[in-house]
Amino acid sequence: MVDSSFLNWPFFEERHRKLARDLEAWASAHLSASHDGNIDEACRKLVRELGSAGWLKYAIGGTAYGAAAETIDTRALCIIRETLARHSGLADFAFAMQGLGSGAITLFGTEAQKQKYLPRVGSGEYISAFALSEPEAGSDAAAMQCEATRSGDSYELNGEKTFISNGGIADFYVVFARTTESGGSRGITAFIVDAKTRGLDIAERIQVMAPHPLARLQFTNCGIPDSQRLGEVDQGFKVAMATLDVFRTSVAAAATGFARRALEEALRRAFSRKMFGQTLADFQLTQAKLAEMATGIDAAALLTYRAAWQRDQGQNVTVAAAMAKMTATETAQKVIDAAVQMFGGQGVVSEEPVERLYREIRPLRIYEGATEVQQLIIARGIIKRFQESELSQGQVKGAEATHLAGGRKA
Ligand SMILES: Cc1cc2nc3c(=O)[nH]c(=O)nc-3n(C[C@H](O)[C@H](O)[C@H](O)COP(=O)(O)OP(=O)(O)OC[C@H]3O[C@@H](n4cnc5c(N)ncnc54)[C@H](O)[C@@H]3O)c2cc1C
Repeated sequence: MVDSSFLNWPFFEERHRKLARDLEAWASAHLSASHDGNIDEACRKLVRELGSAGWLKYAIGGTAYGAAAETIDTRALCIIRETLARHSGLADFAFAMQGLGSGAITLFGTEAQKQKYLPRVGSGEYISAFALSEPEAGSDAAAMQCEATRSGDSYELNGEKTFISNGGIADFYVVFARTTESGGSRGITAFIVDAKTRGLDIAERIQVMAPHPLARLQFTNCGIPDSQRLGEVDQGFKVAMATLDVFRTSVAAAATGFARRALEEALRRAFSRKMFGQTLADFQLTQAKLAEMATGIDAAALLTYRAAWQRDQGQNVTVAAAMAKMTATETAQKVIDAAVQMFGGQGVVSEEPVERLYREIRPLRIYEGATEVQQLIIARGIIKRFQESELSQGQVKGAEATHLAGGRKA
């Protein structure tokens, strides 16, 4: 059962509905939710398959570099993540990281950088990674200590990055490092670091509850030519935030995909599980739960595709994307938990779909800005809007007062 009725919402165009249909058919034929054995190899294979099937061209921008469109189509990105997440968390991860890892190149790369990296990311030849977080700088990314010191025509990187997805299997990393010591968020620069660069080491592989390649990176006198600098010197924080602005909405879409899968599983279970002379679905308590799950999913999807549509219209999306990410990830966690509960003991058996979803959703409430960080972004946005409207009303009132005062004088 696939509920695709949301594709009739006004956010979408025919090309989005076609994309959803085509990907659904491909995913049903090619993807499996569980992956035995070597997770690195499973991930490499998925990237190659997603590349050769043509889906990765939606993760990059610029038709000259093999992309589906000149700029990233956020609604397409979200439809792809939602669909892949419903079928396979690892396939969604593989797709998303190609986009997040190369997003800064799409947005800020030089012609030479785009030519070198984007076609290879879009075909699945190169695996990409985004290296912002550090042991002492996660939510507070501007507190980073990894530093890049200029010497002649190149930079030397020293420091650490941690929790880096695709760490250990990536062909290149977009790395953010401090170039001006006292600059705070204004003293950071972005670099593209090829995985084989001398001085870059995988210090530790990190195992997590929903397995995927993840590592701590160590940079020791790691030489990077200036041609690998991404964007302006000391403007790297803006590069990171602009990249996250694109992909944050897609995290909401992935969460929505996980939640939809949980609802599908819960419905199947409710109708097949017999108890007290009827089925679980016959109980009104169950129906109330199903109603809450479905409504939560629609609310999350509406916020997600509103944010995606807004970005595709060229509007500022910072607050809308934060609302979508917060609501979709928190809702998905609740929906999946309700599904596990309906499954009873079977719901906590390893590799049962709802058990897997329970593990897969959890990190989404933390990475690319934890829920609390999204709350701060939203609050900052609405406070700014409120102050601006107060100010402009004050100016109108001030102008009216001057006009009236002038009128009296006259
Ligand atoms: C599976 C996974 C994959 C990841 N992949 C990547 C990647 O590819 N690249 C990358 O750069 N990073 C990645 N990360 C790192 C991720 O972005 C950070 O974990 C995240 O930003 C939180 O940082 P932290 O872990 O240091 O937690 P902390 O910054 O220590 O925050 C801990 C908790 O404090 C709370 N909190 C934060 N700010 C506030 C506040 N202002 N007020 C109140 N409470 C607050 C939140 O609940 C938060 O979860 C990944 C993380 C995970 C778990």
